[in-house]
Amino acid sequence: MRAWAFPGLATRVVFGAGTLARVPEEVARLGHARALVLATPGQRAAGEGLAARLGPLAAGVFAEAAMHTPVAVSERAVAALRASGATCVVSVGGGSTIGLGKAVAARTGADQVVIPTTYAGSEMTDILGETAAGGKATRRDEAIRPEVVVYDVDLTLSLPVPLTVCSALNAVAHGVEALFAPDRNPVVEAMARDALSLFRDALPRIKAEPRDREARADALRAAWCCSTALGQASMALHHKLAHVLGGSFGLPHAETHAVLLPHATAFNLPAARAELAPVAAAFGGAGGLWDWAASLGAPLRLADLGLAEADLDRAADIATQDRYQNPRPFGATDVRALLQAAWEGRRPG
Ligand code: NAD
Repeated sequence: MRAWAFPGLATRVVFGAGTLARVPEEVARLGHARALVLATPGQRAAGEGLAARLGPLAAGVFAEAAMHTPVAVSERAVAALRASGATCVVSVGGGSTIGLGKAVAARTGADQVVIPTTYAGSEMTDILGETAAGGKATRRDEAIRPEVVVYDVDLTLSLPVPLTVCSALNAVAHGVEALFAPDRNPVVEAMARDALSLFRDALPRIKAEPRDREARADALRAAWCCSTALGQASMALHHKLAHVLGGSFGLPHAETHAVLLPHATAFNLPAARAELAPVAAAFGGAGGLWDWAASLGAPLRLADLGLAEADLDRAADIATQDRYQNPRPFGATDVRALLQAAWEGRRPG
């Protein structure tokens, strides 16, 4: 038998279609009189629409969220929060906006109501990654975990199919690595298993009809499962590689996860066959996962994401500088070979 501990579920979750209408009552329920709405420049209109719904609860809209949570943007958001008198942030958007809300909460103690519009999965976690001076630093702290998450399926209907596919693979990566994490528990194992088949069946339907509300609901529920898994279990080699390629080489977040996942899964399968049985059952193993991604039009080559072949040695070196848990032991040569296969876009297995 395997011993385990379940940390409990700290975040209140509201799920449905049209649930955006419930955000004002969720802010009030937390006891706040004023909330600052956060968004990216591209989702400013969604932020302003939400502020209008919040009425007197809205303290303004700060629409400067950016990928990888730059510290300079977070400091401007903190100043905006303080100037507005808000004690709560309402983050509407993907991982970039949610990251900004976490950075503000970590600096001010503000509560967070989060409305995710991608499947990236930051909303249920206590993790914050921030960038400054060209480096990315990540930390875990219970104070970072959002108080309330409102999932509104309607907000995901507009997510473009290419981003939908990459974001889903980003989420699947959380589920896959949670399955073999030493600190996993039966709740996240069940959620990860559920998520694999939900995503497998929903994505082809979304590709065929992006506004299929039932398929979008399945994908968003799967994203919640994977986010919960990420928030409770330690990640391994796959996440480390994605972090290095995003943080040190500027590769796009979701796309990088999409390319790497079949390769990292193929590498770990021999050392974690029992734990990864749900991946085999859902996709037929790492090769099947690659075929599924390919059928959805996912990017398959790191070369296509702007990484030069000459950078592979340095990426492998950075990724092996620190020790971290992974089911299969590895050295720089293993990581270099994995990156080469992902750079070329070879089908694993
Ligand atoms: P993102 O938040 O940058 O969104 C990508 C783009 O899509 C943005 O321009 C955004 O405005 C737009 N967009 C979002 N939802 C949309 C919708 N429904 N319709 C149309 N456009 C939409 O990207 P992401 O992949 O969601 O998040 C990536 C970031 O999240 C990275 O910085 C990553 O490090 C972080 N992240 C953090 C955690 C954590 O636990 N801390 C977990 C996962 C991801």
